[in-house]
Amino acid sequence: MTNALITDVLIIGAGAAGLTAALTAHECGATVTVIEKGARLGGTAAISGGIVWVPDNPQMKAKGIADNREDALAYFRSLDHGEMSADTLEAFVDEGSNALEFLNEQGALELHILDGYPDYYLDRPGAITDGGRALDNALFDYSTLGDWADKIYNGGDIVRMMLLETPLGGGTGIIEPEEMQRRIDGDLRGWGQALIGRLLKACLDRDIELLLETSARELINTEGRITGVRVTKDGVDQTISAEQGVVLATGGFEWDEALKSTFLRGPLTAPASPPTNTGDGLKMALSAGAGLGNMTSAWWIPTLSMSGSQWPENGAPQKEAQRSLPVLIERTLPHSLMVNRQGKRFCNEANNYSALAGAFQSFDPATYDYHNLPAYLIMDSQYLARYPIASVMPGDPLPDWIVQASDLPSLANTLGIDAEQLETTVSAFNTHATNAEDPEFGRGESTYDRFYGDRSRPGAAATLGPVAVGPFYAVEINMGALGTNGGAKTNATAQVLDVHGDVIPGLYGAGNVISNPTGSVYAGAGGTLGPTLTFGYIAGKSAAQTETV
Ligand SMILES: Cc1cc2nc3c(=O)[nH]c(=O)nc-3n(C[C@H](O)[C@H](O)[C@H](O)COP(=O)(O)OP(=O)(O)OC[C@H]3O[C@@H](n4cnc5c(N)ncnc54)[C@H](O)[C@@H]3O)c2cc1C
Repeated sequence: MTNALITDVLIIGAGAAGLTAALTAHECGATVTVIEKGARLGGTAAISGGIVWVPDNPQMKAKGIADNREDALAYFRSLDHGEMSADTLEAFVDEGSNALEFLNEQGALELHILDGYPDYYLDRPGAITDGGRALDNALFDYSTLGDWADKIYNGGDIVRMMLLETPLGGGTGIIEPEEMQRRIDGDLRGWGQALIGRLLKACLDRDIELLLETSARELINTEGRITGVRVTKDGVDQTISAEQGVVLATGGFEWDEALKSTFLRGPLTAPASPPTNTGDGLKMALSAGAGLGNMTSAWWIPTLSMSGSQWPENGAPQKEAQRSLPVLIERTLPHSLMVNRQGKRFCNEANNYSALAGAFQSFDPATYDYHNLPAYLIMDSQYLARYPIASVMPGDPLPDWIVQASDLPSLANTLGIDAEQLETTVSAFNTHATNAEDPEFGRGESTYDRFYGDRSRPGAAATLGPVAVGPFYAVEINMGALGTNGGAKTNATAQVLDVHGDVIPGLYGAGNVISNPTGSVYAGAGGTLGPTLTFGYIAGKSAAQTETV
């Protein structure tokens, strides 16, 4: 074993939280080293939509959109089921805008308002219906990254649009060929790729040390203070000493079966994030005596799994990992509904993805089973003629993961679900969907429900239309997550707390490795990256300003 390196602040994990913490600590005067276990960096953030939700943010102020601290806090407090800590919640609300302003000044972020994107709980005090808090990344020029352009993990897909240009952000998804060619020639990329690209560029411009394929294994505890970490690099064990602090930024634990089954309140079988999120930082925090918060929760999202679709390898020891895709617009568009194995609907399909988990994870005491898992999205030929299912566009050949049948009973039999009940369910749904109504679950009543719908149709018809014209189609839906959001408890300055609530000197955390400041609440689009960037900023600042003891 060699003592390879000494730094002031050591950041573990080069995703959104880690790169933000690195840049901030550097600007506060510290020497910084970032270690990343993958051969490519960026983590979940690099394959994400990159949307950032921050209340009363600089872009809102510039546009004169009214917002304030009290409204934001009222919004969260109305949604709190006892899992939020006042100090970290207030730190997010108070520092979010400062974090964005700082990153913007450093050239590490360029965000624009996603016009019209509503908060997710519009009936709550302080919610904003017409958008402003959710921000989209401007396209970023990857040619400025040199060799590092290929060292960002993009899951094999290059995104050349802003999210607001796609149906997910209210756009058409159509870019004129000349404009697309300009973007290809200039290597312009959007979404999370732009977010991570800009953060990385800012770090590289400052010569911040970035070590890839360097996996943190164990924190070094010197008389109660965290002073470094043991890593594995190129198969060799090494130590890195951190004179001021270590920032955990390793993402969630959604790919660790033992942690999931120990802590989560229900099944999370099909995560949408890359498989490098194996709870490494959480395990290190636990060994240092960290207290935990919010452990039963995740950034839930229903997902579908295309057979044969795997995450590309990323250097770190990685088993073959099924790639699962978020199901957002498919369950919201007209001529579709979702049923369980009994052939019954169980929710407003267009509800926000994170809150929907409660319906999917409903437990039936009679059968001692999660009776809504898996669920099935049922569509008719009107749907398929107009709308996509994941990457399958109207007119494309059908892949094997989409089940097809000429009538509903045959579809039910192929799926192994109750055929008679499915016909009854669809018939009842159609009676009302024809009039753009859903008396059973209220689908289409909220502005949010309609946002992901077909907005060429008026009112609730944006999301409601009968499932009536064969052939019929189905895909299996499981419970996934964009990441977990429980972990090590911190205080408002991102210092990790022990089980007694005392600071563990030298240890900081940000992103999905910590107990999320907004608890289990996904406030609106960008509701995970908002707190992640904010706590990355706070952690970087705190660690850099720590006096070495
Ligand atoms: C498809 C998809 C779309 C999404 N879209 C959005 C969106 O638009 N807006 C939003 O707010 N959220 C979105 N999310 C969620 C968001 O991306 C995550 O919540 C966020 O990226 C978490 O940031 P993080 O820095 O904590 O973790 P990550 O970005 O996952 O980074 C963690 C990094 O730590 C590294 N690491 C792990 N263990 C070690 C170790 N032992 N040693 C060294 N390095 C290690 C990992 O390899 C990884 O690079 C999306 C998620 C998915 C899956």
